[in-house]
Amino acid sequence: MPPAQTRVDTLITNAYIVLEASGAGTDAQQQALAAGREIDDGWIALDAGRVHSAGPSTLPAPAAARVIDAGGRLVTPGLVNTHHHMYQNLTRAFAPAINGTLFAWLSTLYPRWAALDEESTYLSTYVACAELLLSGCTTSSDHMYVHPRPNLIDAQIKATTEIGFRFMANRGSMTRSVKDGGLPPESVVQDEETILSDSERLISSFHDPAPGAMTRVALAPCSMFSVSESIMRATAELAEKHDVRLHTHLAEDKDEDTYALEVYGRRPVEYFEDVGWATPRSWVAHYVYGSAEENQRLAAAGVSATQCPSSNMILAGDTADAQALRSLGMPVGIGCDGSASSDSANLWMETRGAMLLARYRNGPAAMSAREALSMATAGSAANLGWSEEIGHLHPGACADLVIWESAPLSQAGALTDPVEGWLRSGPARGWYVLVAGTPLIESGELTLRELADVLPRHAAAAAAMQGLN
Ligand SMILES: [Zn+2]
Repeated sequence: MPPAQTRVDTLITNAYIVLEASGAGTDAQQQALAAGREIDDGWIALDAGRVHSAGPSTLPAPAAARVIDAGGRLVTPGLVNTHHHMYQNLTRAFAPAINGTLFAWLSTLYPRWAALDEESTYLSTYVACAELLLSGCTTSSDHMYVHPRPNLIDAQIKATTEIGFRFMANRGSMTRSVKDGGLPPESVVQDEETILSDSERLISSFHDPAPGAMTRVALAPCSMFSVSESIMRATAELAEKHDVRLHTHLAEDKDEDTYALEVYGRRPVEYFEDVGWATPRSWVAHYVYGSAEENQRLAAAGVSATQCPSSNMILAGDTADAQALRSLGMPVGIGCDGSASSDSANLWMETRGAMLLARYRNGPAAMSAREALSMATAGSAANLGWSEEIGHLHPGACADLVIWESAPLSQAGALTDPVEGWLRSGPARGWYVLVAGTPLIESGELTLRELADVLPRHAAAAAAMQGLN
């Protein structure tokens, strides 16, 4: 009998590894290496869907069933997307909507989205996950708030389960249609009883609170424009009862201030607090227009925020001062937002966008590549209440990671800091992308068997929704 030896599933060698992203300033890399947050020329071992161990090449690595030679490439934790509306890739760059304000854009698209069914929801989720994987995203939430037919979230979870993608479904909702002073048409809203009972059904069917879960469920009324005060309260109570996360849009648009004052007699954040949402289980999308005092109150309450850089810029709204929010101790994650507003679901690009926006706003020292990567990993993991297991690569973490494709041309000459080079000199895409230790991208190619069949079906569904056939 040979001596007992540790043997793991997968060993990645010859890599520059970021176990945990943080740091700024000219000595950020040296500090990260000295603190063991990064490893130059190292290996990382994965076993049973978890990070087993990591070390420099000077230390012996465990034996492995499979060895991937990273060829000196950068390895980071998988990026985490915390705000999206995947179904919207069925109306990407829809010509009649592209140059309007947020409200005009929504009003043009709602009637189109009324055609959503299980098939188109499945297809759009499948495409969205494949697209996200290419950009190094390994976990996504999705805010699905249009429910013209039942069981659309079931169709989403069918797609993410088939792919093997880590997913937090957000049971979104709308109750206030045009006739009640809301924005959406009646065909896409639901009554409160239907929403609450479907929320409970989804939690009991799909929410897995266990460590290493592949599917979780959060509750997510769309925004104060489209849901009643009572459903906000009832949803917060239901989330408490089942211990699930809460998500909504908050302070995304300047018009929201006027609307909230007119309809609720309060500012948006005051309303949010009054309906029982200022808790650590809430994360909010955008959060651009909070006052300094409101920012402090929400940070103290443990609420976290998601910045969606491309969406903010393409809709020409303002954008959150992520640096200021982070300095208050509020985690800020990154989302790509709906495909129809940002027209792209690329989390690397959004991470770069967050870095650019922070610097554009607050000067060149405002955000390093490591801080932006920290937003897309640790910040986003905090949004989802999943910090222990995702967003870093310390032993015991979920084996969700990216070996980034080397880019000989765009990174030519970027020699002094692989993390800054990665974010400044892109675009970057995943060379290997592993979720729970399983490669969903191998040697730059998606391994998703159904994709060739899904794409033409998605094209047909999108054309039908856009009235093009
Ligand atoms: Zn959104």
